[in-house]
Amino acid sequence: MKFTDLGLLPELLRAVEDAGYTEPTPIQVQAIPVVLAGQDVMGGAQTGTGKTAGFVLPMLQRLARHASSSPSPARHPVRALILTPTRELAMQVAESVVTYGKHLPLRSVCVYGGVDIKPQTAELREGREIVVATPGRLLDHVQQKSVNFNQVEIVILDEADRMLDMGFIPDIRRILAMLPKERQSLLFSATFSEEIKKLADSMLKQPQLIEVARRNTVSETITHRVHLVAADKKRYLLLHLLLQAPDMQVLVFVGTKFGTARLATWLERQGVNAVAIHGDKSQQQRTEALEAFKTGTARVMVATDVAARGLDIDDLPHVINYELPHVAEDYIHRIGRTGRAGKSGDATSLVAPEEAPRLTDIEKLLKLKVEKVEVGGYESLATAEPERRGRGHSHHERERHGPKASVQLPSPVAHVPSVAADGFDFLKPYEPAGADLPGASKGSNLPPKQPLRPVAALLGGLGKK
Ligand code: AMP
Repeated sequence: MKFTDLGLLPELLRAVEDAGYTEPTPIQVQAIPVVLAGQDVMGGAQTGTGKTAGFVLPMLQRLARHASSSPSPARHPVRALILTPTRELAMQVAESVVTYGKHLPLRSVCVYGGVDIKPQTAELREGREIVVATPGRLLDHVQQKSVNFNQVEIVILDEADRMLDMGFIPDIRRILAMLPKERQSLLFSATFSEEIKKLADSMLKQPQLIEVARRNTVSETITHRVHLVAADKKRYLLLHLLLQAPDMQVLVFVGTKFGTARLATWLERQGVNAVAIHGDKSQQQRTEALEAFKTGTARVMVATDVAARGLDIDDLPHVINYELPHVAEDYIHRIGRTGRAGKSGDATSLVAPEEAPRLTDIEKLLKLKVEKVEVGGYESLATAEPERRGRGHSHHERERHGPKASVQLPSPVAHVPSVAADGFDFLKPYEPAGADLPGASKGSNLPPKQPLRPVAALLGGLGKK
């Protein structure tokens, strides 16, 4: 199947060619003709499948008849609304709208919170056919009356399951209630819970169901590996793994915002260039962190599930789960960043004894027994009581078993201090005031960090251009 077989306008085919795509992905093959025909869609697809082009290309084609180079705002009412759960995803979708629509005189705007509202208001007042938005900020604009939905023909809900996780469904329902009844609606979600189905029922009319293979069915190219390790030794094991593969860029997942910031700071102090991305970061900081990672200046990006979701970093050779996710499906989202399109990838998880039930859930979902690999000196002891096991105890255990001859432990493991040499106290509450930003490693006496080889190509950053 070729793009030319899908009935797309020459302007869109040219943009696709400019983007360097040779053939449509499975979701594009299925979605494009259905959306072009004006039907509603319920799509089961994750980020990384090419779903954005799957809905943006036919959406642009359906709006092409309204394309106008007139400067008058009245000639550019909002015709299409794309709702996304996160700012990052909104920015990426908006970028796709620009990329695929570059040969059509349609105007678009990206609207999200955490930044000054005025420039967005000014853009909306100038008239924009396509609005890509996160729900909260869009409602702010509704309140300010800077946006009018009377002429909306298409509404697209991207990553509906994540909207649900983030508590956005009431906002979505409020927005949907303001749209004309006669319209085309598309809903994309990686999973379909009862609540998502309910939303789909109220939003879609006789939708076409489109589903592409789940990531767990294409995981053969990914090597899953578990290192059993006590929670308080994890950071040393992570450092050890990073030192073993000094050229590798790694996305590290941590369960909480606090843990994310703290781990990135600690890695920085050990001389590893790391950035953190989580919900407490300003938009500017998140964009900068992502850029540093994409260009290779940062070797490690430490992220929470929510912050990493939808980021255009989906072709990475190595993902490390510093903590296992509470929801097994999040494991699939996380490792979906690696092993794409038949390439090999590594998914390593550092699992403490208390996380064993989560590992069982993940193995059940993957229908796979994940290989447990011991790294000498870091292995956790299954018999140990996780809550009560103090530092002295683990030292004692180590003596009993003796360190593995093959691996040298970094010295901190010997007595796992809570206060690092430079005074950083791991037991202190997290303080966000910029302390976790790169560059906080002044105290480190390690050699200055070299920018790494850019890996933008690996990160999907070049494909769109
Ligand atoms: P998405 O799932 O929409 O986030 O897309 C994931 C990545 O695939 C993006 O970097 C797109 O630029 C890229 N992509 C989308 N469609 C194609 C295609 N037909 N061929 C190659 N790459 C594509």
